[in-house]
Amino acid sequence: MPTRSQRVRKGIRRVFVRTPGGRTVVHYEDKRPGFRRCGICGEVLHGVRRDDERPLPSSQKRVSRLHGGNVCHRCLESMIRESVLAEWAAQTPK
Ligand SMILES: [Zn+2]
Repeated sequence: MPTRSQRVRKGIRRVFVRTPGGRTVVHYEDKRPGFRRCGICGEVLHGVRRDDERPLPSSQKRVSRLHGGNVCHRCLESMIRESVLAEWAAQTPK
């Protein structure tokens, strides 16, 4: 496998580090992930931390709501509305 400096730069970021001798060297590190996003509309989720540097407790990875941490509140509301309307439509006789 090639060294990190020779690899394609897709998942790697360059960090310029000043050494004690005064030289500036390039360190190659993994890119940090972006914000967690809603699985339906792609909106950035609030109240959710990313655990790229250290593992976090589950309470900080999600919101205490149905599908919290995966789906935003607007998409969840529309999902609930659609399911309730479908249930009503099935119950009402024609
Ligand atoms: Zn959404």
